[in-house]
Amino acid sequence: MSASCLINSPNGYMPASERIPAIARPFISDGAKRTLDVVEEFVEEECIPADPIFEQQLGEGARKRFSADPPVMEDLKAKAKQLGLWNLFLPKSHAEGPGFSNLEYGLMAEYLGRAALQARQPTVPPLTLKSRWLTPLLNGEIRSAFLMTEPDVASSDATNIGLQMHKDGNDWVLNGQKWWSSGTGNIRCKIYLVMGKSDPLNSNKYKQHSVILVPANTPGLTVTRVLSVIGFDHAPEGHGQVTFDNVRVPAQNMILGEGRGFEVVQGRLGPGRIHHAMRSIGGAERALEWFLSRINDPAKKSFGRQLAEHGIMLERVAQSRMEIDSPRLVVLNAAVMIDELGGKRALKEIAEAKVQTASALLNVVDRAIQAYGAAGVSQDTPLASLWAHARTMRIVDGPDEVHILQLGRNESKRGDTLQTRIEAQKAKAAQVFRGYNLKQSDNLELNRTTAKANL
Ligand SMILES: Cc1cc2nc3c(=O)[nH]c(=O)nc-3n(C[C@H](O)[C@H](O)[C@H](O)COP(=O)(O)OP(=O)(O)OC[C@H]3O[C@@H](n4cnc5c(N)ncnc54)[C@H](O)[C@@H]3O)c2cc1C
Repeated sequence: MSASCLINSPNGYMPASERIPAIARPFISDGAKRTLDVVEEFVEEECIPADPIFEQQLGEGARKRFSADPPVMEDLKAKAKQLGLWNLFLPKSHAEGPGFSNLEYGLMAEYLGRAALQARQPTVPPLTLKSRWLTPLLNGEIRSAFLMTEPDVASSDATNIGLQMHKDGNDWVLNGQKWWSSGTGNIRCKIYLVMGKSDPLNSNKYKQHSVILVPANTPGLTVTRVLSVIGFDHAPEGHGQVTFDNVRVPAQNMILGEGRGFEVVQGRLGPGRIHHAMRSIGGAERALEWFLSRINDPAKKSFGRQLAEHGIMLERVAQSRMEIDSPRLVVLNAAVMIDELGGKRALKEIAEAKVQTASALLNVVDRAIQAYGAAGVSQDTPLASLWAHARTMRIVDGPDEVHILQLGRNESKRGDTLQTRIEAQKAKAAQVFRGYNLKQSDNLELNRTTAKANL
């Protein structure tokens, strides 16, 4: 091991397992600690150094940017399998998985989020898939895409989703358009989970939608283009715009059942959001490292001092440290809640984690970019690409506002009870006053007459 990649404390190398936040430590098995250290080493020694090679290989095969994975990615997959770092996210209930809790995997996801190659990877493949698709998916031979968002409606309110699904004999026929379908640019992406409106007249708007499996090569289905993310194309996966022109799929491809689209979507997002959130923490840590490296670079003095000697930079460092450390605990708490109570009982914690980590990542990357000056917005640091990714995190899986509104609405529901409690406490106070034979008064009451006040 070349220690140089793993220096992560003033004293050199301190393994990830020894840096687990104190609050999480009692919940982490020895096996998970060992794997965490292997993940860290793999990311630092193999994945991060591979990031520029990945970009170059994509560049060399420009016309194939949206075809298959470049060789370096295939090599990394093979190494990850050799090291046992494969499908680490699979829940305990899944026989083929390593059996880590969400909390344990969350800690690993932080390290994965440090490498660009890993940060954008899909997190939880839909485990509801039939084995025909799930097995090659878990082997990394194919990948899936989730198609919900549409160009013609405000998709953050999923009840607006309008892709038409109508039943014809034993088939469903799909017509409409999707966009931001992550992964559809890659030829390995063989199966799409598509949300559409199957029962538009249902009086319950949460039962109008279904999710159905559509093989990528189904006639009538076209990936018309990929969308850029602040100028980056996110090859080789890409975010496709997809048209459906009388796309016919067998009825047995329906997931969970007709009208259960919202259940499918919600089941998928809980743990996935935790993984994204921890990857964001990892990205923010990496940005902070670049930031620290730049402000301590003796060759780059401004106005006679290194940047680290300018107070404003140290304040930004401290702000960044706090903005990373606080939401990390919020995410880990959400992971424990999911482990103990399930995703549905952890919606508040998941929303808190999602919103706070996205902002933390964006803020820290932005400060790091500023410290680099023009280099920060160029291809010479990972920061520009990280910033573009970070900016999307406030939108993907539902924009901040939707989560904040939901959080606020749920919190506000306690208002009636709290008002009753506060009134009860006031009444009790009055009772206690009477018990002491005291007349309740206000110590700041002046009772000045106008005449005295005018003296
Ligand atoms: C990089 C990337 C990858 C993505 N991958 C996928 C994918 O794989 N599959 C997929 O289906 N989708 C994907 N998306 C789409 C993403 O999930 C949607 O963009 C997101 O849900 C918002 O929907 P919208 O773009 O239609 O915005 P709209 O719903 O039109 O919202 C626009 C803006 O309105 C505001 N807003 C919305 N609701 C409220 C509210 N209640 N209160 C106040 N303000 C509000 C917010 O500021 C919001 O950003 C991806 C997006 C990006 C950027």
